[in-house]
Amino acid sequence: MIEIASAANIVEAQLLADELRSGGIEVFVSGGYLTGAIGELPPDSVLRLYINNEQHRERAEELIAAFEAARKKDLPRRWCAHCEEWIDGQFGHCWQCGASMPVVD
Ligand SMILES: [Zn+2]
Repeated sequence: MIEIASAANIVEAQLLADELRSGGIEVFVSGGYLTGAIGELPPDSVLRLYINNEQHRERAEELIAAFEAARKKDLPRRWCAHCEEWIDGQFGHCWQCGASMPVVD
């Protein structure tokens, strides 16, 4: 297993895992499912995301960097023309149909 990212809470970990999966990368989240519901994690606990395929590392790092950069910019939501769904700005793919979303600067 290759540690690829860490997340401060389970929501962030899940969003990041979903983003990686939508990019075709198999990803595992440690810890989050062992500790119960949201809000029960100790404040200093960190969830870790792992991949098990070294060949996915470069792509995973690109997706994570894009995810974090987009989140910092607080991008507006976008409209998926394929399935007519609103997608939060940080996502590179439509969560519903998987279509690539255009990058907005
Ligand atoms: Zn869509």
